[in-house]
Amino acid sequence: MTKYFETVRRDGPARMGKLQSMQQISTPALISKDDYVSAGSVYSYATIQDAIAAGEALREHKKLAILPYVPSALRSEPALELPPQELTGPKGVMVHPFSAKEPEKADVYVLANASSLKNPRDLVAAVVSVRNAIAPDTALYAPALATPANLALLVYLGIDLFDSIRMTADGLLGRYHTRDGVWKAEELTELPCLCESCRKMANDGRTKELLVAHNRQKLEEELLAVREAVRSECIREYVERQVRVTPEQTTALRLLDAEHQYLEKRTPIIRRSTFYANCSESLTRVEVTRFAERVISRYSAPKSDVLLLLPCSAKKPYSLSRSHRLFTECIGSHRRYLHELILTSPLALVPRELEEAYPAASYDVPVTGRWDREERAWLTTCLEAYLKKNRYARIVAHLEGDLEQAVKDSGLDATYTGGGTSGPALALLGKAVAEACRDATRLPDLRLLRYRAHADFYFGSGAGDLLLSGKITVRGREIQDEQKRSLAATTPSGLIALSLAGAARLEKLGSCVVRIGDFRPMGSLLAPGVVDADEQIRPGDEVIVVGERAFGVGRAKMSGWEMKASRRGVAVEIRQIKGR
Ligand SMILES: [Zn+2]
Repeated sequence: MTKYFETVRRDGPARMGKLQSMQQISTPALISKDDYVSAGSVYSYATIQDAIAAGEALREHKKLAILPYVPSALRSEPALELPPQELTGPKGVMVHPFSAKEPEKADVYVLANASSLKNPRDLVAAVVSVRNAIAPDTALYAPALATPANLALLVYLGIDLFDSIRMTADGLLGRYHTRDGVWKAEELTELPCLCESCRKMANDGRTKELLVAHNRQKLEEELLAVREAVRSECIREYVERQVRVTPEQTTALRLLDAEHQYLEKRTPIIRRSTFYANCSESLTRVEVTRFAERVISRYSAPKSDVLLLLPCSAKKPYSLSRSHRLFTECIGSHRRYLHELILTSPLALVPRELEEAYPAASYDVPVTGRWDREERAWLTTCLEAYLKKNRYARIVAHLEGDLEQAVKDSGLDATYTGGGTSGPALALLGKAVAEACRDATRLPDLRLLRYRAHADFYFGSGAGDLLLSGKITVRGREIQDEQKRSLAATTPSGLIALSLAGAARLEKLGSCVVRIGDFRPMGSLLAPGVVDADEQIRPGDEVIVVGERAFGVGRAKMSGWEMKASRRGVAVEIRQIKGR
């Protein structure tokens, strides 16, 4: 909880923030001795009193001031403890990742032994445990750790501040860094870089000074690329590519993915970028598990006698694809008597009503027609859980190849048509559907079902019933109550936007509710104004703002837990608010 640091953008655990030191530093950033003062290790002083006095001397400093610290080995408790000291400016303290002691309140935490976190297990455990122990609106500094190759992973882990110490030290030792790793400069026949230092080295020979300059420039360039990846909300895709540089980095990403709760708490509900499921790590991404979990637990399929299983399409949403248009045409009027479920990797199951929800409408996956064992297992696990909850009298599976085989192997009792979009294939589909839909119950308007599904998906089971109770009419992307008041609209990005009347219907559910004090916020609701917030809220969620004097709707900019634990930053972008 700090006066000097604020997160302004988030993409999973990666953040961009503002640190107010002598000048404002935009994080993630490389800092140097120009940006902070440090009292150093207590062991550099003759007495403890001298060390404490050195901390006292930093009291009025305007720059980030790092208090005297007690170094210790990675997994041992520091041998000494110093009394806490207060500063008027930004305060930095060292934090020992595996210490049982709660860290002292500060604005910036310096990760102890950061430079020795070579083992991926130690690295991930250290950052996750420190991040869990310190307030979200504080910055984390890892000294002497960053290289151009590992910077993206470090930012994605949740570190905000770095330096170029390692670049300097390695340059002096003749080591040559790029984003692709590190080499002994003497062993390189050609230098794979055209920076000014490398051009000089090509002509005049390789000097340590020029190696240092090159290394530092590569780190600075990588920082720019990583910052842009966070800004454009594709840091995860960037990291999945970048960790291939070494097995240790790939291990670290997999270990981080195993810290599912750490990631889930920080992963937004929607991102502007396309979700690329390029590698095996993509299968375990929060976006995938969250989508599947919500489809299985929050969503309820409409009461239908017939289930039609369809394959996904490259074009999203699926309805706009050529293959799905052909399916729809072929099914014709039977469409009102069956429920459609699309099978896909890595999302597993996408009910037709949710095809516009993130990431169903914006993911891309390499398609070879082959389903590997992990993908099959994930799909059939999800399908079994789904069919346990949502029961159908008859199932038609219009699937082909590996996908059809995977579903058959799971033992699903269905009419298998063999899939495909050719004339004969579609004729088979039409025939199977006509047969299955004989005497089937007619379903409600698909457009209404979409609102019900979205409401349950975003606000939890039962939200659809509350939002759609009474006589509801659909107008374009909007639904209205009997008095023609707007209740909600679906947005082009697949979210739901509530009106105040719609929010009033959902308030009693308690989901996505942000409670504020006795005031009426305008524009942005800042974190200090939040009294309580639903822990389940994630960045991008539609939220209902409830106070003694105000009732409104808006978009969450941070997670619910973060709203409660922060003293700075925008919590909610308010869209509509009224007095009450
Ligand atoms: Zn260079």
